[in-house]
Amino acid sequence: MHGGQVTAESEIGKGSRFTVTLPYDLSQSSASESEPTVTNSLQLAVNPENAIAPLMLLAEDNEANIQTFTSYLIAVNYRIIVAKNGEDAVAMAKANSPDIILMDIQMPGMDGIEATKQIRLDLNLINTPIIALTALAMEGDRERCLAAGANSYVAKPVKLRQLNLLIQQFLGSVN
Ligand code: MN
Repeated sequence: MHGGQVTAESEIGKGSRFTVTLPYDLSQSSASESEPTVTNSLQLAVNPENAIAPLMLLAEDNEANIQTFTSYLIAVNYRIIVAKNGEDAVAMAKANSPDIILMDIQMPGMDGIEATKQIRLDLNLINTPIIALTALAMEGDRERCLAAGANSYVAKPVKLRQLNLLIQQFLGSVN
C-alpha cells in the first residue's frame, strides 16, 4: 500500500534474509517540516504570557503511537510525560498535575475509561482537560468516554494538526 517491497532469501542450513523497502519522498518531508512552526505560533497566540510549554500527560500503550505523538507534540512546544497503562496514568496525573491529558482507551490492565474515572475522583484533577483516543470508532464509545469524565473524544487514526487545534482550544479556555 506504500509502494514498497518485501523480499525473502533463504538457504537451508545457513539462514534467511528478509528485506523491506519503503519509498521515502524527501520533497514531501521537507514541506511538512514547516507545519510545526505554523501551529507553534498559534499555540503561543493562545497563551502569550505563559513562557513555559504546557505539560501534557500522554497515556498510550502502543510504541509507534507514542513516537508519532511525542515527536509532533514536542515540535509544537509541549512538554510530554508518557504512561503506558491506566495505573501509571492515574499515578502520573496525581504526581505531576498536567495541563492536559491524552488518554488512549484500549490499554492493558486498567483501560482509559477506568483511568479517566479514577483521575476525576482527585479534587486537584477535576478540571484537567482529558481527550480520549480510541482505535475503534465503536457505537457508544463516545458516550462511554464522556460519561467517564473525558472532555472530548478523538477516533484513531488521529490527524495531528487537528488534535493540536483541539488541545489549544482546551488550554485556551482553561487559562
Ligand atoms: Mn492502545
